[in-house]
Amino acid sequence: RKNVSKIPTGGEEFDELLDGGIETQTITELYGEYGSGKTQIAHQLAVNVQLPEEEGGLDSSAIYIDTENSFRPERIKQMAEGVGIDEEEALDNIFVARAYNSNHQMLLVEKAQELAKEQEEEEEGKQVKLLVIDSLTSHFRAEYVGRGALAERQQKLNKHLHEAIKFTNLFNAAALVTNQVQSNPDAFFGDPTRPIGGNILGHMATFRLYLRKSKGEKRIARLVDSPCLPEGEGVFTINKEGIRD
Ligand code: ADP
Repeated sequence: RKNVSKIPTGGEEFDELLDGGIETQTITELYGEYGSGKTQIAHQLAVNVQLPEEEGGLDSSAIYIDTENSFRPERIKQMAEGVGIDEEEALDNIFVARAYNSNHQMLLVEKAQELAKEQEEEEEGKQVKLLVIDSLTSHFRAEYVGRGALAERQQKLNKHLHEAIKFTNLFNAAALVTNQVQSNPDAFFGDPTRPIGGNILGHMATFRLYLRKSKGEKRIARLVDSPCLPEGEGVFTINKEGIRD
């Protein structure tokens, strides 16, 4: 892998954990309970990728596939203000697409390739260096219900992630996907800290981050199964400006 770049999260400790930020040519998976900060981090990275290189960004744009209607333009504006970039420009540099079901979501990743190619050819436009899929699994989980549907669900997810990897390689971009875990620790099925999608996802997401709430406003990111970085944890907070220490 050549010319790998990183997109900083905005939290110093968080970035230290990742040795600078999330990587291009890689899928990073954020998993955690509802409210653990997955969508906030996704918003923050869509802003930070736009920062000039001397400020740690890639001077680029983002494609944001939103499956649960959780993208908030107002939040992007706050975060843009927090890093000192123009709010409207920040919004213009995020291409948001709402995915209505899993097939549509898969199609959108293919469309993302076309859009990124167009941006490359356009003189004015910023190149796309971040693909967000928030949430990767919600539609798949809702549509493929029960044991009988499990194999097909995994097969579809597998294909979907392959397309995402292809995207990251074609454009030297980062992919960030989110995944919810069961929020009931007493749930009959499975370990509450295990992400949906199980092993297939595990083998494809190069970086996996488990997020959880801590005391007060603090949250903890744990790096799990990393091929080249030590496992560890970093504390971050979410405030009005965005993700911080
Ligand atoms: P997930 O995607 O993991 O379900 P979110 O990323 O949506 O979780 O995180 C939601 C949390 O982020 C809220 O509970 C709140 O603590 C925090 N948050 C969201 N917006 C703001 C804000 N403007 N200022 C401070 N904290 C915020």
